Amino acid sequence: MSKWNYKELGLRAGIEIHQELDTESKLFCRCTPELTQDDPDFIIRRNFRPVLGEMGEFDKAMLVEYQKGLSIQYQGYDAYSCSYEIDETPPFEMDTRSLEIGIILCLMFHMAPIRELHVCRKNYLDGSVPCGFQRTTIFGLNGYIEIDNKKYGVNTLCVEEDAARKIQYDEKNKIITYRLDRLGIPLVEIVTDPDMNTPEEFEKVAFNLGLLLRSSGFVKRGIGTIRQDINVSIRSGSRVEIKGVQKLDWIQPLIDNEIERQLNLVKIKEEMEKRGLNKSNFNIKPIELTEILKETKFKPLKSAIKNKKKVIGIKVPKMKDLLGIKIQNDKSFGKEIAEKLKSITGLKGLIHSDEDLKKYKITNKEISAIEKKLKMDEKDLFIFLFGPKNKVIESLDVIINRIKMALDGVPQETRRAEEDFTTEFIRELHGGKRLYPDTDMHPIIITDKMIETASPKIPEYPWEIIDRIYNEYKIDKEFIIDLILSERLAIFERILSNYEIDPKLVCISLLETLKALSRKNLPIEKITDDQLEDVFAALNDKKIAKEAIEEIFETMALKPKMNIEKILKELDIKSISSDAVENIIDEVIEKNQQFIKEQGMRAFKPMMGDVMKVVRGKMDGKKVSDLLRTKITKFLKQ
Ligand SMILES: [Zn+2]
Repeated sequence: MSKWNYKELGLRAGIEIHQELDTESKLFCRCTPELTQDDPDFIIRRNFRPVLGEMGEFDKAMLVEYQKGLSIQYQGYDAYSCSYEIDETPPFEMDTRSLEIGIILCLMFHMAPIRELHVCRKNYLDGSVPCGFQRTTIFGLNGYIEIDNKKYGVNTLCVEEDAARKIQYDEKNKIITYRLDRLGIPLVEIVTDPDMNTPEEFEKVAFNLGLLLRSSGFVKRGIGTIRQDINVSIRSGSRVEIKGVQKLDWIQPLIDNEIERQLNLVKIKEEMEKRGLNKSNFNIKPIELTEILKETKFKPLKSAIKNKKKVIGIKVPKMKDLLGIKIQNDKSFGKEIAEKLKSITGLKGLIHSDEDLKKYKITNKEISAIEKKLKMDEKDLFIFLFGPKNKVIESLDVIINRIKMALDGVPQETRRAEEDFTTEFIRELHGGKRLYPDTDMHPIIITDKMIETASPKIPEYPWEIIDRIYNEYKIDKEFIIDLILSERLAIFERILSNYEIDPKLVCISLLETLKALSRKNLPIEKITDDQLEDVFAALNDKKIAKEAIEEIFETMALKPKMNIEKILKELDIKSISSDAVENIIDEVIEKNQQFIKEQGMRAFKPMMGDVMKVVRGKMDGKKVSDLLRTKITKFLKQ
């Protein structure tokens, strides 16, 4: 149970899903859309360089990236990347399959597809797209999806390119390495309205959207192919986007922690107002403190001063104790500011007077001297940083701005989900203005004919599939969901339409048995649907008993080229007659007469084990046990 009353807080949450599409080629070139672990065929090194915009000014965000002084290394592959990925060729035509999937998904979300698509650019300044922007295309707007009788707005549906994947960050040399294989793989981006009012509801919608994409057959499987973000706000707070939500069960703690964070930021804002602060109080002048701290015992500080770095501090008026307030789990407001600083300027090591300064080996004498130098009053707070002078001055500016923002409560931000369900600053939230037209691509006209062709291809909604399979085969709905998620529903249906076999047995074999083998690290992905069908055909023809299924799957995984007849031969599996089994049972009883006389029916279990050693997979276990029970009973009566 959560500690929050979501209704009272006015919780609103929306989801943003990015899912890779399963296509033959990338979105704007014809490279193979697959990831590789091989050594790269070529490596390209590039440096950031800001260029003047049309208005004769540098983009601020671009300058920030430039000042980080990073260089970028791209790992390229002849099969998975071409001159398009490295921005030496304009885009080719949009992949036709992605175009069709985009239209079909619009129809599934009750959107009228946009009839003149415009490929747009979205700036990516972290180097993950070599040309500096991602190409994205809005296919539909303002649709909805109905789940459990509630309509959830689907605000936008886009088809866009995936970015390159980050392989390594060499902090010492400031080199980021990206691999170009993932760049350009088509993605669908689905953004809902903030219509979810509790974490449970959010989890349900996220789950069903994921299920819908999976059951559609349009998307890739596996780790990293789906990424979901949450955007969340409470009435007194504002919209915060949380990226990198890896599992559905992260949702509740992430939302709960974000509520806590927003409430605490609002508290800080109220306290600042109570103390009579407004934005004009923060025209603060940085003052150098190097001299005061030159005898410091704190190693990082000491070596910085030795290397001619500067210590510069500020007095923050009437903010005493506010940076020490814990706003998310153990994370204080001061720590949150430090994280933002690190993300924006790369400078670490923010020190402030709400902290226990003993951990930095700062003495009371030094503290008094700093307070005196900064002309502090009782309610004031100090912050200082050390590093290259310009960097420190710039960083103090970031800090002052963040503190000013606290007067507005919760800033709109994009944050990253951490393993402990707290979040860390990534960037300020982008407005809708982030998209601008791509001058390399012509508009794409969606004709009536294209929509007519797409309409009959709309797949069943997963909830319809679940009802249909349930009504037909009466297996648990949980199993049906598992069949969809494991993409074994099609083969399940194929087997049951071709053979008269217990649906439960097929379902359990396809799910549990295969899962158990996979846990033993057997390469079950090598087993094809046709092979799976062969096993059930053999069962149907009574060539094997159901007990043999696991062993046959195992052999199929290990020897993918071997056909079913050979496997049965190798495993010495042929079904045997009841007479033969009776003979085996008679032999076992004969050998164990004394034991059975002593133990009575308790001897049944070990006897059954002995018999099954010989007949496993050749006769149904239930039949064997019936026969054995009858025989032992008869023997005991003699
Ligand atoms: Zn390419």
